[in-house]
Amino acid sequence: MQRYKTILLFGAPGVGKGTQGKIIGHIPGFYHLACGDVFRSLDMTSPLGRKFLEHSSKGELVPDELTIEMWKQNIHAQTVLSIYKPTQDLLVLDGIPRSLAQAKALAPYLEVLNVIHLVCRDVDAMVMRMRRRALKENRLDDADEKVIRRRFDVYQKETAPVLGHYPESIVHDVDAVGSPAVILQRVLDIVAPIQDAHFRNPLAGDPKV
Ligand code: AMP
Repeated sequence: MQRYKTILLFGAPGVGKGTQGKIIGHIPGFYHLACGDVFRSLDMTSPLGRKFLEHSSKGELVPDELTIEMWKQNIHAQTVLSIYKPTQDLLVLDGIPRSLAQAKALAPYLEVLNVIHLVCRDVDAMVMRMRRRALKENRLDDADEKVIRRRFDVYQKETAPVLGHYPESIVHDVDAVGSPAVILQRVLDIVAPIQDAHFRNPLAGDPKV
């Protein structure tokens, strides 16, 4: 099987991965998939939906095996429906992998070309952003300060070590402080040349694959 050519959007909760991912996902040739969005789209009365609620409401990760299984089914469905076209689209993954076990389980499926590590040292700003989002998007996990703090702890303990799993040469720290447009510019400076190098641009008639 050909592995999916992938960019990982990485960073602490509330740093802006989703905002950037959504914008980039609108650019032709990119496909954005946020693991949290997939979880939130589940039927919350289904067994998996209930598991998601059980863990996310405490600010904890859904167990690795369930998460990977759901991710595999979801990406398969997106390819079958041609929503994501692996030969044409650069996959932009947001919120997965979130543990070393997930990074290892995904390795046979992903060719990780770059890891964009969004960095913001201002925890209070991230907490504020999450609280705003909780009101706007009705997100239970971001409504409670205690749960938010737990999300940061889990990030430090379980997710941050994932950065060390990838070669330093493909990990890029990106300053996540600024307006969405300014941050987008920083991300695209890294990501656009990668897309150009790996995918054909049909408008330019330049077959690279
Ligand atoms: P997010 O929207 O990325 O902040 O994710 C919201 C919640 O979904 C997290 O707090 C976790 O409970 C769950 N979740 C999302 N992605 C993952 C993942 N890769 N592994 C485990 N749990 C996840």
